[in-house]
Amino acid sequence: MEAEIITIGTELLLGEIVDTNSRTIARAIRDIGLDLYRTTTVGDNVDRIAQVVKDGVERAQAIITTGGLGPTVDDPTREAIARAFDVPLEYQPHLWDEIQEKFTQFGSIPADNNKRQAYIPKGAIPISNPVGTAPAFIFETENSSVISLPGVPAELIVLLHDEVIPYLKKRLDLRYVIKARIVKTSGIGESWLDNEIGDLELLSNPTVGLAAHPGRVDIRITAKGQNEGEVDEMLWKMEATLRQRLGDVIYGIDETTLEDVVLKGVNDKGWRLRVFEAGTEGALAASLKGRNDCYSGGEYFSSSISQGELESTMEQSLREKNVEVGLGLILEYGESKHNLSIFVHSPEGSVEVSRAYGGPPANAPIWGISQALETLRKQLS
Ligand code: ATP
Ligand code: MG
Repeated sequence: MEAEIITIGTELLLGEIVDTNSRTIARAIRDIGLDLYRTTTVGDNVDRIAQVVKDGVERAQAIITTGGLGPTVDDPTREAIARAFDVPLEYQPHLWDEIQEKFTQFGSIPADNNKRQAYIPKGAIPISNPVGTAPAFIFETENSSVISLPGVPAELIVLLHDEVIPYLKKRLDLRYVIKARIVKTSGIGESWLDNEIGDLELLSNPTVGLAAHPGRVDIRITAKGQNEGEVDEMLWKMEATLRQRLGDVIYGIDETTLEDVVLKGVNDKGWRLRVFEAGTEGALAASLKGRNDCYSGGEYFSSSISQGELESTMEQSLREKNVEVGLGLILEYGESKHNLSIFVHSPEGSVEVSRAYGGPPANAPIWGISQALETLRKQLS
């Protein structure tokens, strides 16, 4: 089953507002197993919206539009859907009653143009809007449903979850729930992981897949089931299996970042962290900035600095600034390999690690900071 999203509004096209509705919708429909194939943004123009809708229903079983349902002449969506299917707009007295009631509740009186919102394309199914004044509606064709929702994100969320998702599950007979979880690892490579969990990568439900980033590998678990409870259980079980097999190379789940984990580790000990880097153009400092009060900032040096110089500068700076933990790294670019030295100074001792990277030079800094953070994470645990 395929779905498409159409976001409507010239402000979106001009980049004056950021489209967050697509993301809300995309996540909600993914969770019911509906595949999103396209998102289109179109300005406030009746003909262009009508055309995009017509094209969409040829391909997809569900089209969700957002925006353009307000009361002014400039709000084009009602008109555009009517035009796409060659039907007139039809006045729905009960929608007008609801709109008037809504205004009374908000302590005001509707303007004349609010009456426009009580007109929806003939044959459309109205969806009343408990959180705003603009009624939404669904226009069904033989093979598709066009669902028009308001642009205001708070209204969209309520209507999506209370009305649209249950409607789509029923109309498209979507009996499955699909959910994903990302288990995040660092300090090891994709091939090592393949060795440890290759058998799990062959399963069909839940599926387990790897996505490699320099110095970090995400393991994505995707489970499909009859209901949320069943799917959650599959995810938990697979996560537990991965934890058992992989142990502490796992640093977090889903949105967790290695940066936040390391900073939290430092903070939990009541320490502060300062970083010292050469050859990475301040990438480590940039990745830590603004995330946690325990971060005291970074200093960077040319990559020709010697290990001894970097270490003594680090010690001196930590002493002067009264900071407990120092994380230093030097990345040296070579012909085919790039060499990395990492230094950690903390109240629990010092560690020095060397690593080599054979990947593309552009990825070397990201790889380097992942390695450095991973070294500190180990030291803290
Ligand atoms: P209204 O009755 O408020 O006019 P509407 O359905 O006509 O609602 P729009 O006028 O298109 O919706 O948008 C109203 C507001 O909602 C916009 O000013 C913007 O702040 C927000 N909005 C619209 N579309 C999006 C979107 N795709 N993502 C995030 N916010 C949006
Ligand atoms: Mg509007």
